[in-house]
Amino acid sequence: MLLLGGLAVGLVSGLSPAHGDPMARAADSAQIASGRRNPYDKFRGASYSNEGLYPERDEIRLGQELHKQLQREQKIVRDPRLASYVQQLGEQLARLSKRPDLDYHFFIIEDPTVNAFALPGGYIYVHTGLLATVESESELASVLGHEIAHVVARHGLKNFKRAQKYQFLVGLINLGIGTIGGEGTAARIGQTASQLLAAGIFTRHSRDAEREADFLGVHNMYAAGYDPRGMLSLFEKLEQISRRSPDLLGAVFRTHPPASERIRNTQAEITDHLALDPRLVRDTPAFRAMKQRLRELGWVEGPAPISLRRQRWGSPH
Ligand SMILES: [Zn+2]
Repeated sequence: MLLLGGLAVGLVSGLSPAHGDPMARAADSAQIASGRRNPYDKFRGASYSNEGLYPERDEIRLGQELHKQLQREQKIVRDPRLASYVQQLGEQLARLSKRPDLDYHFFIIEDPTVNAFALPGGYIYVHTGLLATVESESELASVLGHEIAHVVARHGLKNFKRAQKYQFLVGLINLGIGTIGGEGTAARIGQTASQLLAAGIFTRHSRDAEREADFLGVHNMYAAGYDPRGMLSLFEKLEQISRRSPDLLGAVFRTHPPASERIRNTQAEITDHLALDPRLVRDTPAFRAMKQRLRELGWVEGPAPISLRRQRWGSPH
C-alpha cells in the first residue's frame, strides 16, 4: 500500500515544476526504490525569504492595498468577540511559524462556503462557513497554519511575480504613498487589486505549493501545542462535504490535492516526525465560546441552501 501510494503521489507531483530538478528526481527515485517515500521530504529544512521577489516592505504595501479592495467587495465580520478570537489564535500560530516577525492580520468573511485564504503581507481570511464546520480548535489551527504557510513560503507573491502584466502595481502603490499620486492613482490601484483578486493570482496555487503549506501547517500547529490529527479530521470533513454538498466547497478541490492524498501525506508525516502526547490540545473553552457566538449570530446552520452564490475568486486556501 505504501509503495503504491507513493508512486501515485509521484505521478501527480511529477507534473509540477519542482520536479524538473534532477536532484529532486534522483531523491524521489531513491525513495521509491527503497519502498518508502515521504512526499514532504523535499520541503524539509527549506528556508524562506523575499529574495528574488519583492522586498518585504513592498509585499506589505501590496497586502494592504489588496485588503482595502477586498473590504469593498466582501463583508468582513466586525463582531469583536469572533474577530479577536481568530486574531489571537492566528497570531499565536504565526509567532511559531517560519516567518514569526511579520504583522499578521486575521479576518472573518461572512460567507457560508467552507473556505480560507491568504494574501501577501500576512493578510489571512476565514469564512463563517469554515468556522461553522470545524469542530475543534485543532481543526481550525490546521487551517490557519496552512494559510500562514502560504505567507511564509510567499506562494502568493511568487504567483504575482509570474503574472507579468500586473507588475506596474508595485510602482503604482509606492507612487500612491507619496503626494504625487492623487485620486487617479488610488482608483487605478483599487481597480488593479480587484482584477488580481478576481483572477485568483494570490489564492490559486500549484498542488506542490499546497502540499508545502500542509507540511508547514502541520508542523506549525504542532509547535503551538495542537494535536496534529486535527488536520486529518479537517481533511475528512472536507471530503465528506465534497461528497454531500460540493457547492459548499466551491473550488477547494480544483487546486488542492484530493483530500485522500492530503490525509495520506499528513498521516505519514505525523507517524514519521511528530510524537503524539496526551497533553496536545484539541479543544478549548475559547473555541466553544466562539461556536456559541456563531450560533447567536445565526451562522451555524445545517446544510447550506443549494442556491449558494458561487465563490467570487474561485480559489480557496
Ligand atoms: Zn492552500
